[in-house]
Amino acid sequence: TSAEIHEFATQQIYDFCHSQNLLFVWIYLYSHWYTEVQWVKWARSARDEIPAGKTTMLVEAHWRVLKRIHLHHHNRPRTDYLVFIMISRQCRRLILSFNQKVAERRVVPSWENEFRAEWRKLNDLQIDDDRNELYQVDVERWVCSCPYFIHNRFLLCKHLVNGGHGYGNSVGLLQPRRYLITRKQAPPYIQLIHVRQRYEQKYICEG
Ligand SMILES: [Zn+2]
Repeated sequence: TSAEIHEFATQQIYDFCHSQNLLFVWIYLYSHWYTEVQWVKWARSARDEIPAGKTTMLVEAHWRVLKRIHLHHHNRPRTDYLVFIMISRQCRRLILSFNQKVAERRVVPSWENEFRAEWRKLNDLQIDDDRNELYQVDVERWVCSCPYFIHNRFLLCKHLVNGGHGYGNSVGLLQPRRYLITRKQAPPYIQLIHVRQRYEQKYICEG
């Protein structure tokens, strides 16, 4: 359980500090990282949700764009100038990208192409008949206990792709722009909304 993982991790770091005689390191680590209050802020086991994005990668990419593109000629800029650049350039660029990729769907995000390529690869694989029961495949909640699912970037595996949910064309392949692919932190982790359905939903909401 989550509590057992917390206890085990704390014991592990305590034993390490004790064996190396690192008293002050232990005091720092415990008070800043391992108490109940601090633990839930950073430990993955403390929450049920599975993050869809890799947090450090997203933050690194954000800083890279800010530093290398918008502040290319400005080493150590003044704070007011930095805020001005973030609002006038970076936010404008992010809003434009959001509108193109999500709101208007004029540009297909690169990860969607990778998602469809992965789907195609898994769709071609054969499944042994007894595997669905062994791995407790649940298409409704989009979960499978096979090792491939756990380690896959998009939480896809051949059992779910071939799960008989009716997604894709006659041979089970996803066509570009036909589906809005939504990735969630809680089950169902993946939802494919048919674009026509989406417009119908929108129409119903507006109606
Ligand atoms: Zn699976």
